Amino acid sequence: MTRLIFLGPPGAGKGTQAKTLADFLHIPHISTGDILRQATKDQTPLGIKAQAYMDAGDLVPDDLVQDMVQERLQQPDAEVGWILDGFPRKVSQAEFLGQLLAENKQGDVKVINLDAPDDVVITRLLARGRKDDEEKVIRHRLDIYRDETAPLIAYYTHLQQLISVNGNHPPEEVATVLQNIIAH
Ligand code: AMP
Repeated sequence: MTRLIFLGPPGAGKGTQAKTLADFLHIPHISTGDILRQATKDQTPLGIKAQAYMDAGDLVPDDLVQDMVQERLQQPDAEVGWILDGFPRKVSQAEFLGQLLAENKQGDVKVINLDAPDDVVITRLLARGRKDDEEKVIRHRLDIYRDETAPLIAYYTHLQQLISVNGNHPPEEVATVLQNIIAH
């Protein structure tokens, strides 16, 4: 049973690696960004509420994402394990998740911190061309990452759950490193 959280700045290759590893392990890849983008596309009540935050590169309010994650983790396909990509994004969300998993006796989670230097992630994001990948918004998302999300590195280190992986290598190499970590 594998339950993993992927941490790291936008552009570190988190989404690609989380998806590849989830396929390899036959467990769902749960990306809060993907779910939110689909919700805004479908103009669901959640999507309508989330849209302005996402376009600005701001975090969507905790209650919205937390409800969404709680519901997603209750789906039958998540019984065999999962990889969470993009959640938690701040300490309050990590505390919520910790409590939720403890209630379900699923506290045996590992956290992969996929890191890469700022200049590398900015170059990668500019090449990606998503709606929120304009340079000004990218810089804002990196500021938010630094202020809100990076403290999770210390949080999960303290809980002895953190494994750091260098994302500044070709994707196939990073994928192999991740598979080896999971196998051991
Ligand atoms: P991502 O695809 O993970 O880069 O997420 C894209 C956008 O979705 C972010 O910039 C946020 O606006 C929103 N988002 C995704 N995950 C979360 C989260 N855990 N908490 C708040 N906002 C989120």
